[in-house]
Amino acid sequence: MRHVFVSLLMFGMLLLPSCASAASKPSAVILAGNYWDGVSDGPLGAAEILVVDGRIAEVGKSVARPEGARVIDLSSKFVMPGFIDSHVHLTGGARFFANTMGGNDASLTLNGVYACGQLLNNGFTTVRDAGDFSFAFWVVPELKKAVNSGIIRGPRIVTGGHMISAVGGHFDAAGLVRNGVSLEQVSVVEGVDGVRRAVHNEVSHGAEWVKIAGSGGFMSPSDGPEDVSYSQEEMSAAVAAARDIGKHVFVHAYGDEAVRRAVVAGVRSVEHGSLSSAATLEMLAQKGIWLVPTQIAVVVNARATAEGHVDMSMPEYVREKNAKFSPRILECAGNIAKSDVKLAFGTDLGTFDFSVNGATEFAEMVRNGIAPLRALKAGTSAAAEMLELNAGVIAAGKNADLVAMPGSPFDDISATEKVSFVMKGGVVFRDER
Ligand SMILES: [Zn+2]
Repeated sequence: MRHVFVSLLMFGMLLLPSCASAASKPSAVILAGNYWDGVSDGPLGAAEILVVDGRIAEVGKSVARPEGARVIDLSSKFVMPGFIDSHVHLTGGARFFANTMGGNDASLTLNGVYACGQLLNNGFTTVRDAGDFSFAFWVVPELKKAVNSGIIRGPRIVTGGHMISAVGGHFDAAGLVRNGVSLEQVSVVEGVDGVRRAVHNEVSHGAEWVKIAGSGGFMSPSDGPEDVSYSQEEMSAAVAAARDIGKHVFVHAYGDEAVRRAVVAGVRSVEHGSLSSAATLEMLAQKGIWLVPTQIAVVVNARATAEGHVDMSMPEYVREKNAKFSPRILECAGNIAKSDVKLAFGTDLGTFDFSVNGATEFAEMVRNGIAPLRALKAGTSAAAEMLELNAGVIAAGKNADLVAMPGSPFDDISATEKVSFVMKGGVVFRDER
């Protein structure tokens, strides 16, 4: 009996390396046919990339080959840093919304497991969660632990807690909250004291960033995208409370006034910003505040609506808002392209289904006038700078987060949607050469 147990134990240990990140990370030499490092003005040609213990050790025409290093031949591929999506909702997805009334934190967790697998498969090696939909607890920090321990496949996760929301505001799921759960528990709060307490509560439960709903939205039934949820005093109190404990704030804001209040409060990033005036975009640029424009979530709809294609699967109140705001969303997208504001890539996946490849955001940004280089930086080195992570760049000392695709995204941006190789932290998670 003891023998059986010992063998099982050994068997289990033998299995561990395939469980990836918790296991030792063998060295590898990647032969890239062409590559971009995340920061240069364009492709840099063929190169070799040495990966040791999860980090990039050397990049050059010919690198050292430590004994036992695996050679990964990507000489027919284009290699670039793994993508970073700064705005996802891991606990969401169309299937979640279809089942919300019967949902609970267990079903949200299963959504999250599916989301993590899809994202990594599509080349996203890091994501920031922009609002945990959990009813009674905090699901995203648990997903992060599961990914880090190798229990599930997924990107590196930066957690954002529940979106702190006013009563009746964008993230007030009051009608959906289960028995025994107070509004405060899911950070539906009012007033300076309430907002401060929510910041502390979210951070104490694992939020690495603090997310605030500064305006209403399109999907939320009881408010509109130009409605402002918090006073300047409340918004500034949230930023001050977060700063006191070493955290950054990111704000959901569509309308111009909500974006302006977020700028005055001193947030690190504005999410969406889709109805910002040119003058407000200029304020963001001057203050060095990041914008995460989530264009596949917003501009695609606006363009379809403007062209007369109405998605009848949307509730009537959503269709009405789309019709009202589409022209201004399109105008704002043009202004974002012309502005100097710092952009970080974000999709808002989770408000739509994770079967959608988030990399389509690259092509959407380009369609809206953003230069391919700016879009590609937004999804790699720029996002890493915003998130203060040692990623998004192919250079010695950086995390070995790499993707490969058939051709150069500088020639055709949609190459980013055809990822066939994914390495995260030196571990290969997808390899279809
Ligand atoms: Zn969102």
